[in-house]
Amino acid sequence: MKINFWGVRGSYPCWGKHCTQIGGQTSCVSATLSNAQHNRIIFDMGTGIIDLGKELLDQGIKHITVIVSHFHLDHLMGLAFFKPIWDEGTTITFYSPHLSKGLDLETILKTKLFCPPLFPIPFNEVPATCYFKTFQTGDSLNLSKDITLKTLNLNHPGCATGYRLEHGNKAFCYITDHEHSAEFNEDQMLRFVQKADLMVFDTMFTPEDSKTYVTWGHSSWQSAVDVAQKAAVKRLALFHINPDYDDDKLLKIEKEAQALFPCSFLAREGSSIDI
Ligand SMILES: [Zn+2]
Ligand SMILES: [Zn+2]
Repeated sequence: MKINFWGVRGSYPCWGKHCTQIGGQTSCVSATLSNAQHNRIIFDMGTGIIDLGKELLDQGIKHITVIVSHFHLDHLMGLAFFKPIWDEGTTITFYSPHLSKGLDLETILKTKLFCPPLFPIPFNEVPATCYFKTFQTGDSLNLSKDITLKTLNLNHPGCATGYRLEHGNKAFCYITDHEHSAEFNEDQMLRFVQKADLMVFDTMFTPEDSKTYVTWGHSSWQSAVDVAQKAAVKRLALFHINPDYDDDKLLKIEKEAQALFPCSFLAREGSSIDI
């Protein structure tokens, strides 16, 4: 399984010389499975998905699976500029949790995001063939006979879903937009990510800043390390990086995390890792 980081920031995209090393696009990660080269599994549709879309078109990838953690704008804002949706030969299957008040991804795209005045073209006029699959968080889904997607409820305003993708003997966990705390189902979290080959984890804050932003629904890098150690995760990618933190501060954070857990690293836009 190959994991590519297309967007690693939280909240909003950033640019300029303070973020050249880590990158400024918002959440988007892809998984390429060894025996399914024709297919791509994408986690979230932040602005990072825009460059991924260009590559998928260049490579002639026509079957795409998109898995959405939740519906905050930083995780959806790239979709309108994701070129495969404007290609009528492409088929996209969206998986998303059923959240509160009857809102699901299909409803949000059709009645909110792809609607004037926010966007000029209604979703029904998107040329790609789109399928929408919803689930209750906690469900385990079979994406195909040898690809399993497990889901976990996260601690985030309005809810978010964490994922564990299993294929062959490999497991990849995508845990973002989550405020880790011992009170919020820690045992369940540790079981869920247990021995993952790679865990992406929300690290929006330093431990000091996290005290200021309690209930904002994000974690510190120290919480991420704590979960990784307790759950015997093999590698940890620090993710959903604070757009207000510059490269120098982030490289210091990476060193501090590695001092406690050597197999941790900052997710960097444009990088990839084989697991
Ligand atoms: Zn976010
Ligand atoms: Zn969020």
